[in-house]
Amino acid sequence: MSVREKRTVVVVGAGPSGALVSALLQARGHDVLVVEKAHFPRFSIGESLLPHCMSFLAEAGMDAAVNGAGFQFKNGAAFCRGELQAEFDFTDKFTAGPGTTFQVQRGPFDKLLADEAAAQGVEIRYGHEVQSLTLLEQGAQMMVVSDQGERYQLDCDFVLDASGFGRVLPRLLELERPSDFPCRQAIFTHIADGIEPDSSDFDRDKILITVHPQYQDVWFWLIPFSDGRASLGVVAESTRFADGPEDLTEALKAWVQDTPSLANVLSRARFDTPVNTLRGYSADVTTLGDHRFALLGNAGEFLDPVFSSGVTIALKSASLAAAALDRQLRGDTVDWLADYAVPLQRGVKAFKTYVSAWYDGRFQQVVFHPNPTSSIKQMISAILAGYAWDESNPYVAESERRLNALVAVCEDH
Ligand code: FAD
Repeated sequence: MSVREKRTVVVVGAGPSGALVSALLQARGHDVLVVEKAHFPRFSIGESLLPHCMSFLAEAGMDAAVNGAGFQFKNGAAFCRGELQAEFDFTDKFTAGPGTTFQVQRGPFDKLLADEAAAQGVEIRYGHEVQSLTLLEQGAQMMVVSDQGERYQLDCDFVLDASGFGRVLPRLLELERPSDFPCRQAIFTHIADGIEPDSSDFDRDKILITVHPQYQDVWFWLIPFSDGRASLGVVAESTRFADGPEDLTEALKAWVQDTPSLANVLSRARFDTPVNTLRGYSADVTTLGDHRFALLGNAGEFLDPVFSSGVTIALKSASLAAAALDRQLRGDTVDWLADYAVPLQRGVKAFKTYVSAWYDGRFQQVVFHPNPTSSIKQMISAILAGYAWDESNPYVAESERRLNALVAVCEDH
Protein backbone atom coordinates (compact mmCIF):
# COMPACT_ATOMS: atom_id res chain seq x y z
CA MET A 1 0.00 0.00 0.00
CA SER A 2 1.32 3.45 -0.90
CA VAL A 3 1.99 5.84 1.99
CA ARG A 4 -0.30 8.45 0.47
CA GLU A 5 -3.66 7.79 -1.13
CA LYS A 6 -6.47 9.97 -2.53
CA ARG A 7 -10.15 8.92 -2.49
CA THR A 8 -13.36 10.84 -3.14
CA VAL A 9 -15.24 9.85 0.03
CA VAL A 10 -13.83 8.26 3.18
CA VAL A 11 -16.23 6.77 5.74
CA VAL A 12 -14.86 6.25 9.26
CA GLY A 13 -16.51 3.12 10.75
CA ALA A 14 -18.46 0.23 9.23
CA GLY A 15 -21.34 0.06 11.75
CA PRO A 16 -24.95 0.51 10.53
CA SER A 17 -24.54 4.16 9.50
CA GLY A 18 -21.19 3.55 7.76
CA ALA A 19 -22.40 0.45 5.90
CA LEU A 20 -25.58 2.18 4.75
CA VAL A 21 -24.07 5.48 3.64
CA SER A 22 -21.24 3.78 1.75
CA ALA A 23 -23.64 1.46 -0.11
CA LEU A 24 -25.92 4.37 -1.04
CA LEU A 25 -23.01 6.45 -2.39
CA GLN A 26 -21.51 3.48 -4.24
CA ALA A 27 -24.89 2.85 -5.88
CA ARG A 28 -24.90 6.49 -7.06
CA GLY A 29 -21.54 5.91 -8.74
CA HIS A 30 -19.13 7.56 -6.27
CA ASP A 31 -15.73 6.33 -5.12
CA VAL A 32 -16.01 5.34 -1.42
CA LEU A 33 -13.54 3.81 1.02
CA VAL A 34 -14.59 2.61 4.49
CA VAL A 35 -11.92 2.49 7.19
CA GLU A 36 -12.93 0.33 10.19
CA LYS A 37 -10.67 -0.15 13.19
CA ALA A 38 -12.21 -3.44 14.38
CA HIS A 39 -12.57 -6.83 12.69
CA PHE A 40 -16.18 -7.98 12.23
CA PRO A 41 -18.12 -9.53 13.84
CA ARG A 42 -17.50 -7.39 16.93
CA PHE A 43 -19.79 -6.72 19.90
CA SER A 44 -21.96 -3.62 19.94
CA ILE A 45 -24.78 -2.62 22.26
CA GLY A 46 -28.18 -1.65 20.73
CA GLU A 47 -30.03 -4.79 19.72
CA SER A 48 -33.66 -3.75 19.34
CA LEU A 49 -34.41 -2.19 15.96
CA LEU A 50 -37.44 -0.04 15.13
CA PRO A 51 -39.61 -0.79 12.06
CA HIS A 52 -38.60 2.46 10.35
CA CYS A 53 -35.07 0.94 10.05
CA MET A 54 -36.51 -1.41 7.43
CA SER A 55 -37.29 1.56 5.11
CA PHE A 56 -33.61 2.56 5.08
CA LEU A 57 -32.38 -1.01 4.68
CA ALA A 58 -34.72 -1.34 1.67
CA GLU A 59 -33.36 1.92 0.21
CA ALA A 60 -29.87 0.34 0.23
CA GLY A 61 -31.09 -3.05 -1.07
CA MET A 62 -30.20 -4.76 2.22
CA ASP A 63 -33.70 -5.69 3.43
CA ALA A 64 -33.85 -9.13 1.79
CA ALA A 65 -30.61 -10.21 3.49
CA VAL A 66 -31.83 -8.96 6.87
CA ASN A 67 -35.27 -10.57 6.42
CA GLY A 68 -33.64 -13.91 5.63
CA ALA A 69 -31.03 -13.95 8.40
CA GLY A 70 -33.13 -15.64 11.08
CA PHE A 71 -33.17 -12.73 13.54
CA GLN A 72 -35.93 -12.51 16.18
CA PHE A 73 -39.11 -10.99 14.68
CA LYS A 74 -40.34 -7.84 16.45
CA ASN A 75 -43.77 -6.22 16.14
CA GLY A 76 -44.00 -3.90 19.12
CA ALA A 77 -43.05 -2.87 22.63
CA ALA A 78 -44.43 -4.04 25.98
CA PHE A 79 -44.16 -1.92 29.12
CA CYS A 80 -44.58 -2.96 32.76
CA ARG A 81 -44.60 -0.95 35.99
CA GLY A 82 -45.75 -2.87 39.07
CA GLU A 83 -49.23 -4.14 38.27
CA LEU A 84 -49.55 -1.86 35.24
CA GLN A 85 -48.96 -3.24 31.78
CA ALA A 86 -49.19 -1.71 28.30
CA GLU A 87 -48.45 -2.85 24.79
CA PHE A 88 -47.86 -1.00 21.55
CA ASP A 89 -48.48 -2.90 18.32
CA PHE A 90 -46.26 -1.25 15.70
CA THR A 91 -48.42 -2.52 12.84
CA ASP A 92 -51.26 -0.39 14.22
CA LYS A 93 -49.74 3.04 13.69
CA PHE A 94 -50.49 6.46 12.20
CA THR A 95 -47.62 6.63 9.69
CA ALA A 96 -47.40 4.41 6.60
CA GLY A 97 -44.35 2.14 6.29
CA PRO A 98 -43.03 -1.13 7.69
CA GLY A 99 -44.63 -2.10 11.02
CA THR A 100 -42.32 -4.95 11.99
CA THR A 101 -38.59 -5.45 12.35
CA PHE A 102 -36.07 -7.56 14.29
CA GLN A 103 -34.10 -7.88 17.51
CA VAL A 104 -30.55 -8.65 16.56
CA GLN A 105 -27.22 -9.61 18.08
CA ARG A 106 -25.26 -6.67 16.71
CA GLY A 107 -22.11 -8.69 15.93
CA PRO A 108 -23.74 -10.70 13.12
CA PHE A 109 -26.19 -7.91 12.17
CA ASP A 110 -23.50 -5.27 11.63
CA LYS A 111 -21.37 -7.81 9.76
CA LEU A 112 -24.31 -8.64 7.51
CA LEU A 113 -24.84 -4.97 6.58
CA ALA A 114 -21.10 -4.42 5.98
CA ASP A 115 -20.92 -7.60 3.86
CA GLU A 116 -23.91 -6.36 1.85
CA ALA A 117 -22.14 -3.04 1.23
CA ALA A 118 -18.98 -4.92 0.19
CA ALA A 119 -21.02 -7.16 -2.13
CA GLN A 120 -22.32 -3.96 -3.77
CA GLY A 121 -18.71 -2.94 -4.46
CA VAL A 122 -17.74 -0.88 -1.40
CA GLU A 123 -14.12 -1.30 -0.28
CA ILE A 124 -13.90 -1.82 3.51
CA ARG A 125 -10.53 -1.95 5.28
CA TYR A 126 -10.88 -3.76 8.62
CA GLY A 127 -8.23 -3.29 11.29
CA HIS A 128 -7.50 0.25 10.05
CA GLU A 129 -7.90 3.11 12.50
CA VAL A 130 -8.16 6.82 11.72
CA GLN A 131 -5.81 8.45 14.23
CA SER A 132 -5.64 12.09 13.19
CA LEU A 133 -7.46 14.39 10.80
CA THR A 134 -7.01 17.87 9.37
CA LEU A 135 -9.73 19.70 7.48
CA LEU A 136 -8.41 21.50 4.40
CA GLU A 137 -9.99 24.35 2.46
CA GLN A 138 -11.57 21.61 0.37
CA GLY A 139 -11.69 18.07 1.74
CA ALA A 140 -9.69 16.46 4.51
CA GLN A 141 -6.43 14.69 5.20
CA MET A 142 -6.06 11.90 7.76
CA MET A 143 -3.52 9.46 9.13
CA VAL A 144 -4.54 5.82 9.23
CA VAL A 145 -2.70 3.06 11.09
CA SER A 146 -3.48 -0.62 10.55
CA ASP A 147 -3.15 -3.36 13.15
CA GLN A 148 -0.44 -4.82 10.88
CA GLY A 149 1.64 -1.70 11.51
CA GLU A 150 1.01 0.05 8.15
CA ARG A 151 0.73 3.83 8.42
CA TYR A 152 -0.50 6.00 5.58
CA GLN A 153 -1.97 9.38 4.72
CA LEU A 154 -5.45 9.39 3.27
CA ASP A 155 -6.73 12.46 1.41
CA CYS A 156 -10.37 12.83 0.40
CA ASP A 157 -12.90 15.33 -0.88
CA PHE A 158 -15.33 14.49 1.91
CA VAL A 159 -15.21 12.52 5.16
CA LEU A 160 -18.25 10.90 6.76
CA ASP A 161 -17.75 10.15 10.43
CA ALA A 162 -19.70 6.97 11.24
CA SER A 163 -17.46 6.03 14.17
CA GLY A 164 -20.26 5.74 16.74
CA PHE A 165 -19.12 6.11 20.36
CA GLY A 166 -15.57 6.42 18.94
CA ARG A 167 -16.69 9.99 18.06
CA VAL A 168 -13.55 10.48 15.99
CA LEU A 169 -14.25 13.88 14.39
CA PRO A 170 -15.95 15.44 17.45
CA ARG A 171 -12.81 14.57 19.45
CA LEU A 172 -10.21 15.52 16.84
CA LEU A 173 -11.98 18.73 15.74
CA GLU A 174 -13.15 19.69 19.25
CA LEU A 175 -16.83 19.65 18.33
CA GLU A 176 -17.99 17.98 21.57
CA ARG A 177 -20.80 19.67 23.49
CA PRO A 178 -22.30 18.25 26.71
CA SER A 179 -25.67 16.55 26.33
CA ASP A 180 -28.75 18.06 28.01
CA PHE A 181 -29.32 14.72 29.74
CA PRO A 182 -27.84 13.82 33.14
CA CYS A 183 -25.07 11.20 33.37
CA ARG A 184 -26.90 7.89 33.15
CA GLN A 185 -25.37 4.44 33.26
CA ALA A 186 -26.38 1.06 31.85
CA ILE A 187 -25.38 -2.32 33.30
CA PHE A 188 -26.07 -5.08 30.78
CA THR A 189 -25.32 -8.57 29.53
CA HIS A 190 -26.62 -11.42 27.40
CA ILE A 191 -28.35 -14.28 29.23
CA ALA A 192 -29.86 -17.68 28.52
CA ASP A 193 -33.33 -16.36 29.36
CA GLY A 194 -34.96 -19.71 30.23
CA ILE A 195 -38.41 -18.43 29.14
CA GLU A 196 -40.65 -21.17 27.71
CA PRO A 197 -41.16 -20.48 23.97
CA ASP A 198 -44.98 -20.66 24.40
CA SER A 199 -45.06 -18.68 27.67
CA SER A 200 -48.28 -16.69 28.08
CA ASP A 201 -46.44 -14.20 30.37
CA PHE A 202 -43.93 -13.08 27.80
CA ASP A 203 -44.14 -12.19 24.11
CA ARG A 204 -40.80 -12.75 22.35
CA ASP A 205 -41.98 -10.57 19.47
CA LYS A 206 -41.74 -7.45 21.66
CA ILE A 207 -39.06 -5.65 23.62
CA LEU A 208 -40.05 -5.55 27.30
CA ILE A 209 -39.40 -2.28 29.14
CA THR A 210 -39.91 -2.65 32.90
CA VAL A 211 -39.91 0.29 35.30
CA HIS A 212 -38.44 -0.23 38.77
CA PRO A 213 -41.29 -0.41 41.32
CA GLN A 214 -39.81 2.33 43.51
CA TYR A 215 -37.85 4.61 41.17
CA GLN A 216 -39.67 5.76 38.01
CA ASP A 217 -36.39 6.84 36.39
CA VAL A 218 -34.85 3.36 36.66
CA TRP A 219 -35.81 0.91 33.95
CA PHE A 220 -34.80 -2.41 32.43
CA TRP A 221 -34.70 -3.67 28.86
CA LEU A 222 -35.28 -7.31 28.02
CA ILE A 223 -34.65 -7.94 24.32
CA PRO A 224 -35.20 -11.57 23.34
CA PHE A 225 -33.23 -13.12 20.48
CA SER A 226 -34.32 -16.02 18.29
CA ASP A 227 -32.03 -18.58 19.98
CA GLY A 228 -33.38 -18.63 23.56
CA ARG A 229 -31.03 -15.89 24.64
CA ALA A 230 -31.76 -12.26 25.43
CA SER A 231 -30.11 -8.92 26.08
CA LEU A 232 -30.84 -7.62 29.58
CA GLY A 233 -29.89 -4.23 30.98
CA VAL A 234 -30.75 -1.76 33.72
CA VAL A 235 -30.46 2.01 33.26
CA ALA A 236 -30.27 4.64 36.00
CA GLU A 237 -28.44 7.81 36.90
CA SER A 238 -24.91 6.73 37.86
CA THR A 239 -25.38 7.87 41.46
CA ARG A 240 -28.07 5.18 42.00
CA PHE A 241 -25.48 2.44 41.40
CA ALA A 242 -23.00 3.89 43.90
CA ASP A 243 -24.29 1.98 46.95
CA GLY A 244 -24.93 -1.38 45.28
CA PRO A 245 -22.61 -4.40 44.89
CA GLU A 246 -19.34 -3.60 43.13
CA ASP A 247 -19.49 -6.84 41.15
CA LEU A 248 -21.53 -6.02 38.02
CA THR A 249 -23.23 -9.43 37.79
CA GLU A 250 -24.33 -9.20 41.42
CA ALA A 251 -25.47 -5.60 40.87
CA LEU A 252 -27.60 -6.50 37.84
CA LYS A 253 -29.10 -9.55 39.59
CA ALA A 254 -29.91 -7.44 42.67
CA TRP A 255 -31.77 -4.82 40.59
CA VAL A 256 -33.75 -7.58 38.84
CA GLN A 257 -34.62 -9.23 42.17
CA ASP A 258 -35.88 -5.84 43.38
CA THR A 259 -38.41 -5.81 40.52
CA PRO A 260 -40.85 -8.70 41.06
CA SER A 261 -42.50 -8.82 37.62
CA LEU A 262 -39.12 -9.03 35.87
CA ALA A 263 -37.65 -11.42 38.46
CA ASN A 264 -40.64 -13.65 37.72
CA VAL A 265 -40.12 -13.58 33.92
CA LEU A 266 -36.41 -14.35 34.46
CA SER A 267 -36.83 -16.96 37.23
CA ARG A 268 -35.06 -19.62 35.14
CA ALA A 269 -32.47 -17.36 33.50
CA ARG A 270 -28.78 -18.27 33.47
CA PHE A 271 -26.29 -15.41 33.74
CA ASP A 272 -23.52 -17.04 31.70
CA THR A 273 -21.80 -14.02 30.10
CA PRO A 274 -19.69 -11.26 31.70
CA VAL A 275 -21.73 -8.19 32.64
CA ASN A 276 -20.65 -4.88 31.20
CA THR A 277 -21.34 -1.23 31.94
CA LEU A 278 -21.41 2.04 30.02
CA ARG A 279 -21.89 5.48 31.56
CA GLY A 280 -22.29 9.00 30.29
CA TYR A 281 -23.14 7.81 26.78
CA SER A 282 -25.45 10.75 25.91
CA ALA A 283 -23.51 13.13 23.69
CA ASP A 284 -23.95 16.21 21.53
CA VAL A 285 -21.91 18.33 19.11
CA THR A 286 -21.64 21.97 18.05
CA THR A 287 -22.14 21.16 14.34
CA LEU A 288 -23.12 18.13 12.24
CA GLY A 289 -21.01 19.11 9.25
CA ASP A 290 -20.05 21.45 6.42
CA HIS A 291 -18.86 21.11 2.80
CA ARG A 292 -15.95 18.85 3.96
CA PHE A 293 -17.45 16.50 6.54
CA ALA A 294 -20.62 15.20 8.15
CA LEU A 295 -21.24 13.38 11.41
CA LEU A 296 -23.58 10.37 11.24
CA GLY A 297 -25.36 8.32 13.91
CA ASN A 298 -23.75 8.29 17.31
CA ALA A 299 -20.76 10.28 16.09
CA GLY A 300 -23.23 13.19 16.06
CA GLU A 301 -25.77 13.14 18.84
CA PHE A 302 -26.77 10.20 21.07
CA LEU A 303 -29.86 10.65 23.18
CA ASP A 304 -30.73 7.66 25.31
CA PRO A 305 -31.44 3.95 24.89
CA VAL A 306 -35.02 3.96 26.25
CA PHE A 307 -36.96 3.86 22.97
CA SER A 308 -34.29 1.99 20.96
CA SER A 309 -33.96 4.93 18.58
CA GLY A 310 -30.15 4.75 18.09
CA VAL A 311 -29.89 2.58 14.97
CA THR A 312 -32.93 4.28 13.40
CA ILE A 313 -31.34 7.72 13.83
CA ALA A 314 -28.02 6.33 12.54
CA LEU A 315 -29.70 4.96 9.38
CA LYS A 316 -31.77 8.12 8.85
CA SER A 317 -28.59 10.23 9.10
CA ALA A 318 -26.89 7.95 6.54
CA SER A 319 -29.81 8.26 4.13
CA LEU A 320 -29.95 12.08 4.40
CA ALA A 321 -26.15 12.47 4.18
CA ALA A 322 -25.90 10.22 1.10
CA ALA A 323 -28.54 12.28 -0.73
CA ALA A 324 -26.90 15.61 0.18
CA LEU A 325 -23.37 14.43 -0.64
CA ASP A 326 -24.47 12.93 -3.96
CA ARG A 327 -25.78 16.37 -4.95
CA GLN A 328 -22.58 18.09 -3.82
CA LEU A 329 -20.36 15.64 -5.70
CA ARG A 330 -22.42 16.33 -8.83
CA GLY A 331 -21.68 20.04 -8.53
CA ASP A 332 -24.69 21.41 -6.62
CA THR A 333 -24.20 23.68 -3.65
CA VAL A 334 -25.33 21.95 -0.48
CA ASP A 335 -26.14 23.81 2.70
CA TRP A 336 -25.21 21.15 5.29
CA LEU A 337 -27.15 22.92 8.01
CA ALA A 338 -30.39 23.34 6.05
CA ASP A 339 -30.14 20.18 3.93
CA TYR A 340 -28.76 17.75 6.52
CA ALA A 341 -28.63 18.90 10.15
CA VAL A 342 -32.05 20.56 10.33
CA PRO A 343 -34.05 17.71 8.73
CA LEU A 344 -32.18 15.13 10.83
CA GLN A 345 -32.75 17.03 14.05
CA ARG A 346 -36.50 17.32 13.47
CA GLY A 347 -36.94 13.65 14.36
CA VAL A 348 -34.23 13.68 17.01
CA LYS A 349 -36.07 16.56 18.70
CA ALA A 350 -39.32 14.57 18.75
CA PHE A 351 -37.56 11.55 20.29
CA LYS A 352 -35.95 13.88 22.81
CA THR A 353 -39.34 15.14 23.99
CA TYR A 354 -40.50 11.60 24.77
CA VAL A 355 -37.18 10.55 26.34
CA SER A 356 -37.22 13.54 28.74
CA ALA A 357 -40.88 12.93 29.53
CA TRP A 358 -40.18 9.23 30.15
CA TYR A 359 -37.70 10.04 32.92
CA ASP A 360 -39.79 12.77 34.55
CA GLY A 361 -42.83 10.48 34.49
CA ARG A 362 -45.13 12.40 32.09
CA PHE A 363 -44.79 9.94 29.22
CA GLN A 364 -45.17 6.99 31.58
CA GLN A 365 -48.62 8.38 32.50
CA VAL A 366 -49.53 8.23 28.80
CA VAL A 367 -48.01 4.78 28.21
CA PHE A 368 -49.76 3.20 31.20
CA HIS A 369 -53.10 4.99 30.79
CA PRO A 370 -55.78 2.28 31.00
CA ASN A 371 -58.15 3.69 28.34
CA PRO A 372 -56.14 5.26 25.54
CA THR A 373 -57.93 6.83 22.57
CA SER A 374 -57.10 4.59 19.64
CA SER A 375 -56.21 7.36 17.15
CA ILE A 376 -53.83 8.95 19.67
CA LYS A 377 -52.32 5.58 20.50
CA GLN A 378 -51.65 5.06 16.78
CA MET A 379 -49.80 8.39 16.64
CA ILE A 380 -47.67 7.49 19.66
CA SER A 381 -47.14 3.99 18.23
CA ALA A 382 -45.79 5.54 15.00
CA ILE A 383 -43.17 7.47 16.97
CA LEU A 384 -42.19 4.41 19.01
CA ALA A 385 -41.89 2.53 15.68
CA GLY A 386 -39.31 5.13 14.62
CA TYR A 387 -41.41 7.42 12.39
CA ALA A 388 -40.30 10.54 14.26
CA TRP A 389 -39.79 12.57 11.07
CA ASP A 390 -43.44 12.37 9.93
CA GLU A 391 -44.60 15.92 10.58
CA SER A 392 -48.17 15.08 9.58
CA ASN A 393 -48.24 13.36 12.99
CA PRO A 394 -49.15 16.13 15.48
CA TYR A 395 -47.21 14.31 18.20
CA VAL A 396 -44.10 14.80 16.04
CA ALA A 397 -44.78 18.30 14.70
CA GLU A 398 -45.64 19.80 18.09
CA SER A 399 -44.28 17.10 20.35
CA GLU A 400 -43.92 19.05 23.61
CA ARG A 401 -47.24 20.91 23.41
CA ARG A 402 -49.24 17.86 22.31
CA LEU A 403 -47.64 15.62 24.92
CA ASN A 404 -48.37 18.08 27.73
CA ALA A 405 -51.99 18.38 26.58
CA LEU A 406 -52.27 14.58 26.56
CA VAL A 407 -50.75 14.30 30.02
CA ALA A 408 -53.32 16.81 31.30
CA VAL A 409 -56.13 14.67 29.83
CA CYS A 410 -54.62 11.52 31.40
CA GLU A 411 -54.50 13.26 34.80
CA ASP A 412 -58.22 14.11 34.54
CA HIS A 413 -59.27 10.51 33.76
P1 FAD B 1 -21.50 2.02 15.65
O1 FAD B 1 -22.45 0.93 15.43
O2 FAD B 1 -20.99 2.25 17.04
O3 FAD B 1 -20.24 1.78 14.69
C1 FAD B 1 -19.09 2.60 14.76
C2 FAD B 1 -17.91 1.86 14.16
O4 FAD B 1 -16.81 2.78 14.04
C3 FAD B 1 -17.41 0.72 15.04
O5 FAD B 1 -17.41 -0.49 14.33
C4 FAD B 1 -16.00 1.17 15.47
O6 FAD B 1 -15.10 0.06 15.58
C5 FAD B 1 -15.60 2.11 14.33
N1 FAD B 1 -14.60 3.09 14.74
C6 FAD B 1 -14.54 3.81 15.90
N2 FAD B 1 -13.45 4.59 15.93
C7 FAD B 1 -12.79 4.39 14.75
C8 FAD B 1 -11.59 4.92 14.18
N3 FAD B 1 -10.83 5.81 14.85
N4 FAD B 1 -11.19 4.50 12.95
C9 FAD B 1 -11.95 3.58 12.26
N5 FAD B 1 -13.08 3.03 12.78
C10 FAD B 1 -13.51 3.44 13.99
N6 FAD B 1 -29.92 1.52 19.54
C11 FAD B 1 -30.97 0.85 19.02
O7 FAD B 1 -31.35 1.11 17.88
N7 FAD B 1 -31.64 -0.09 19.75
C12 FAD B 1 -31.30 -0.36 21.05
O8 FAD B 1 -31.91 -1.24 21.68
C13 FAD B 1 -30.21 0.36 21.63
N8 FAD B 1 -29.81 0.13 22.91
C14 FAD B 1 -28.76 0.83 23.42
C15 FAD B 1 -28.38 0.64 24.76
C16 FAD B 1 -27.35 1.39 25.31
C17 FAD B 1 -26.98 1.21 26.76
C18 FAD B 1 -26.64 2.33 24.52
C19 FAD B 1 -25.53 3.13 25.09
C20 FAD B 1 -26.99 2.50 23.17
C21 FAD B 1 -28.05 1.77 22.63
N9 FAD B 1 -28.43 1.95 21.30
C22 FAD B 1 -29.52 1.30 20.80
C23 FAD B 1 -27.70 2.88 20.42
C24 FAD B 1 -26.81 2.12 19.40
O9 FAD B 1 -25.82 1.40 20.09
C25 FAD B 1 -26.15 3.12 18.47
O10 FAD B 1 -27.01 4.19 18.21
C26 FAD B 1 -25.75 2.53 17.13
O11 FAD B 1 -24.86 1.46 17.31
C27 FAD B 1 -25.09 3.63 16.29
O12 FAD B 1 -24.60 3.11 15.09
P2 FAD B 1 -23.40 3.85 14.36
O13 FAD B 1 -23.39 3.31 12.98
O14 FAD B 1 -23.50 5.31 14.55
O15 FAD B 1 -22.07 3.43 15.17
